[in-house]
Amino acid sequence: MSTMNTVGRPTTPNAVTSKPATLTGARGLLQDELLIFESDGWGKTGVDLAEPKTDGSDLGDLVRRDPIGLPGLSEPETMRHYVRLSQKNHAIDLALYPLGSCTMKHNPRLNEKMARLPGFSDIHPLQPVSTVQGALELMDTLAHWLKTLTGMPAVAMSPKAGAHGELCGLMAIRAAHEASGEHAARRKVLVPTSAHGTNPATAAFVGYSVVEVAQTEDGRVDVADLAVKLGPDVAAIMVTNPNTCGLFERDIIEIARLTHEAGAYFYCDGANFNAIVGRVRPGDLGVDAMHINLHKTFSTPHGGGGPGAGPVVLSEALAPFAPAPWVVHGDNGYDLIEREEGEAAQAFGRMCAFNGQMGMFVRALSYMMSHGSDGLRQVAEDAVLNANYIKARLSDVMSAAFPDGPCMHEALFDDEWLKGTDITTLDFAKAMIDEGFHPMTMYFPLVVHGAMLIEPTETESKAELDRFIHALRLLAQAAKAGDVERFKGAPFHAPLRRLDETRAARSPKLRWSAPEGTNIAAE
Ligand SMILES: *Cc1c(COP(=O)(O)O)cnc(C)c1O
Repeated sequence: MSTMNTVGRPTTPNAVTSKPATLTGARGLLQDELLIFESDGWGKTGVDLAEPKTDGSDLGDLVRRDPIGLPGLSEPETMRHYVRLSQKNHAIDLALYPLGSCTMKHNPRLNEKMARLPGFSDIHPLQPVSTVQGALELMDTLAHWLKTLTGMPAVAMSPKAGAHGELCGLMAIRAAHEASGEHAARRKVLVPTSAHGTNPATAAFVGYSVVEVAQTEDGRVDVADLAVKLGPDVAAIMVTNPNTCGLFERDIIEIARLTHEAGAYFYCDGANFNAIVGRVRPGDLGVDAMHINLHKTFSTPHGGGGPGAGPVVLSEALAPFAPAPWVVHGDNGYDLIEREEGEAAQAFGRMCAFNGQMGMFVRALSYMMSHGSDGLRQVAEDAVLNANYIKARLSDVMSAAFPDGPCMHEALFDDEWLKGTDITTLDFAKAMIDEGFHPMTMYFPLVVHGAMLIEPTETESKAELDRFIHALRLLAQAAKAGDVERFKGAPFHAPLRRLDETRAARSPKLRWSAPEGTNIAAE
């Protein structure tokens, strides 16, 4: 059987399954790969180190006497090992990555080039400030543009991820309530039901009790419920805007007004800032603190545990409590405020040992400068346009969770359309892997049954969106036609089939141990 795909090339959907399995387990050019510990690299080393000139050691009795216990590979073996591992997974450099809320967009290579300039990449945070003036100027310039884009007077640059930024924001809020003597009375943080899990987790981590705020039929914060729950015992609210249903909170100004009237602070989760950057300034909406995921909105690479960066912009009221360090500019050039004294007397402390993620700062500024103000505005416009294109093109085969009106940068579907098919959101997502796409975000936000949250981002062309839509339409038709096996057994074509994700999360194997009798002596 042969059909035509969108680009007009003939495809043979069943060709792979009808071929015999390979003899070695390889799949064409994709070879199977052992764990590095299972390679026979014990006792091998890929580099020659010169013998130390002295045999004395400053470490006294602390000198290691046992083998270090690391496997060794030569340089070509190392290259192949990691390249083969990288081929086992999806990557933004391979295809569209529609993971809603995560903003998996193209990472421009210009950013990478800038981040590798020796003046940025070969410096150490303990160098004298006189030797890193350019790096400090870059941090100061980035801080300036983050404040400008958000309309906020201050920014803490050091938090290392969105969740770390939330922690920073809530610690600043707690410090402000402590300074005004209200901390003991204000023990609650209000969080809407659709919030990202990090919001309530952060509030609890800082010692607050979390109170949920209801959501309206059309996917927004229920302002009446919020008004009832606000009071002299509330420290802050945490709201995401655009929210995790991909919708703009139309009552945001009223939400901010009610919050301030109750003496609480407004924390905005800014993970979705790419939907409004250049169009709306959170400072104009009454926000007191918001983290900016540089690794989402400003295109620095992330995923798989790579570094993020979550600077937090702060309002006038919270600015005095910002954590050290920050960059200042005086007669002697750039300097760092490091100690909680003088203008930093009220700083609540530090978020990390040094200054934040320098490499991400460089990439984010490079992204901003190369786009310019008109380009950044277009980022938001294209992100929203792309999501609405997907929503419009899929709404006749899948059920949009909020069908009325346009969405922001994410198209949200529920599993209503799968009713009676015996196929779940998880099955559908797994079948997407076989068709060459990373699944969308599943079962989040929790307020939508069987949620499928698609964020195409602004870096996808219409041609790529069409390829994606074509794949999803074919899958949706297969689901409705009762082709259940395709979904229940999926993925069929990935290096690993369906995993026991609960077991992997509950009892992760974090350590490799040598099989009995293995000699793991290495030089
Ligand atoms: C990604 C995200 C976060 C957390 O950011 P990290 O950088 O992953 O810690 C918080 N809230 C929302 C809505 C997000 O999408």
